[in-house]
Amino acid sequence: MAAQKSFPPIYTEHDAQKASENLRQIIPLINKHKTPVNPVNYAVWYEYVSGDNRQLNTALDERLNSRLPITTELTQALYEKYVLLDMPDRLDSTNAGIAKVVSQTLSQVTKAQNVASECASDLSGTQEELNGYSDINELKNIVSNILSNTQTLTSTSEDLKSELEKSSREIELLKSELETVKEISRTDGLTGLLNRRTFDQELEKICKQQQYNVGLILFDLDHFKNINDTLGHLVGDKVLQYFSQMLNKYAGDKHIAARYGGEEMVMIVFDKSNTEIIDFTNKIRVQLAESKLKHKKDDSLIGPITVSAGISFFQAGDTSNSFLDRAAQGLYSSKDAGRNRVTVN
Ligand code: GH3
Ligand code: MG
Ligand code: MG
Repeated sequence: MAAQKSFPPIYTEHDAQKASENLRQIIPLINKHKTPVNPVNYAVWYEYVSGDNRQLNTALDERLNSRLPITTELTQALYEKYVLLDMPDRLDSTNAGIAKVVSQTLSQVTKAQNVASECASDLSGTQEELNGYSDINELKNIVSNILSNTQTLTSTSEDLKSELEKSSREIELLKSELETVKEISRTDGLTGLLNRRTFDQELEKICKQQQYNVGLILFDLDHFKNINDTLGHLVGDKVLQYFSQMLNKYAGDKHIAARYGGEEMVMIVFDKSNTEIIDFTNKIRVQLAESKLKHKKDDSLIGPITVSAGISFFQAGDTSNSFLDRAAQGLYSSKDAGRNRVTVN
């Protein structure tokens, strides 16, 4: 199962059977711990019984072992931390951070402005005085007044500069936190590939713009349930990560690789001829089949791991659904024909 989380949570890998199996397990838990059946509690128990969210399970198991009651406050806190990944708090604190930096900067600028205008009015007063005086001592006083005003101006502008530098460092930190938040919302936590939502948006864009020379490749790892059953879910997760890294390399900056759900990945390939796309897909398929994956503990070989694929090429008038459906039909044909193969449809 997925060891990761994405925000917002995505449950596409859970088929209807698994989701109703979860429901069957949740009801007795909700009754036992007397937590009201609201969406927050349901989500927490759903994640718990599905076993997808290890950190949440550890936290909840600790609480269950301590025999302290499971309160609504606790489930709310677990929900915010492990289901929403602290996102509301993180956004609140970035927003507050930005507001603080802006107001600090503005007040520094206003302060510097006030000092500058005071000095300016003082200096222009001095200029008027200069017109009337010829006495050397009086002139000395005036010059020293000018000097002190200039020094005040210099030190104020230095203060302002260092305040602005501090603000700019704070803004950099906030910017990078916002980038992280944005990245989390676009990618799948386990594999690092784009998530289903982002993929759907990209595909929608392509179909809206009726972009030609675009190919869609739907991959589905073969007999993945067996891999999980015989080697365990952790190894299953590692295999998913390995294959995803491969796809990411093949995608580079030019193409798109995403986790479609569970052990299904998808690529959108741009500016390749149909034959090139078929060769490209076969190259990926062969590379995976020939990969010599090893168990970490004893270096023994895992495998072979294979993948089946279905390809469709963009056709005029295609919608996301029609474009995807053809690739899915191709994938079914590859499975029917014995797996570890590529079918164009
Ligand atoms: P086929 O060759 O027909 O595709 O067979 P399959 O076993 O790959 O297909 P099936 O749909 O029966 O099983 C897919 C399995 O993938 C079941 C599910 O537990 C597993 N899976 C889905 N997501 C994850 C994940 O994130 N991690 C792990 N370890 N397994 C996952
Ligand atoms: Mg599948
Ligand atoms: Mg499969």
